[in-house]
Amino acid sequence: MVGFVCDMICKICNKEIKSKSNRRKTCGSKCSKEYNRRYRSEYILLWRKNNPEKTKEYNRKFRINNPEYSKNYMEKKNEQNKA
Ligand SMILES: [Zn+2]
Repeated sequence: MVGFVCDMICKICNKEIKSKSNRRKTCGSKCSKEYNRRYRSEYILLWRKNNPEKTKEYNRKFRINNPEYSKNYMEKKNEQNKA
């Protein structure tokens, strides 16, 4: 089947894509950006699952480098617990 135009479906908006390359997964740059964004977050989640120790270490460093962020996060969490 090499050389045929592949009927692909855009992974984001489900539109049909007529493309000679079956590596294409989205219909255009807008959907491509969205796809990358989703794929990246999925990849990060998977990576964290497979690297729990590294994730812990990363979170620890992140908290040290962003003390305000974790402070705000904890405050938000406490508020949620109250409500
Ligand atoms: Zn699309």
